[in-house]
Amino acid sequence: MRIGLGYDIHQLVTGRKLILGGVDIPFDKGLLGHSDADVLVHAVCDALLGAACLGDIGMLFPDTDPEYKDIDSMKLLIKTYDLLKENGYSIINIDATVSAEAPKLSSYREEMRGNISKVLHTDSDSVNVKFTTSEGLGFVGKGEGINAMCIALIEKRSRKE
Ligand code: MG
Repeated sequence: MRIGLGYDIHQLVTGRKLILGGVDIPFDKGLLGHSDADVLVHAVCDALLGAACLGDIGMLFPDTDPEYKDIDSMKLLIKTYDLLKENGYSIINIDATVSAEAPKLSSYREEMRGNISKVLHTDSDSVNVKFTTSEGLGFVGKGEGINAMCIALIEKRSRKE
């Protein structure tokens, strides 16, 4: 078994959609980035890539590449899953935390878990998503951004499969 860690931050700005875990969440601000800036999915990708020792999301999907401009980050997760599969890995479980002062996100948890587990071909009980605030402290607390952390556990498939 191998473990990996992912971490990401994006700035909250007006005039952008707020996409988290592949869910379009109604809010007066959204995350700024080259892609759709889905900070949760980016952290999941990096945790999986880290566990498989395959680099990071910035290396594989550079923000200077026009191919990834405004891309749906679930497509990056599909590419990440394919890469792990090519390298003989299967996913045991992932656990993520999103830190956001607003909006309240818990009602979107099941949809996010479903979106991620579908792409990763895992049971939804292999994907957990948690939410917290920063109690008004720092850039998250001031509503200037959202961050996400994720850990992933993977294993090499046996050659007999
Ligand atoms: Mg990112």
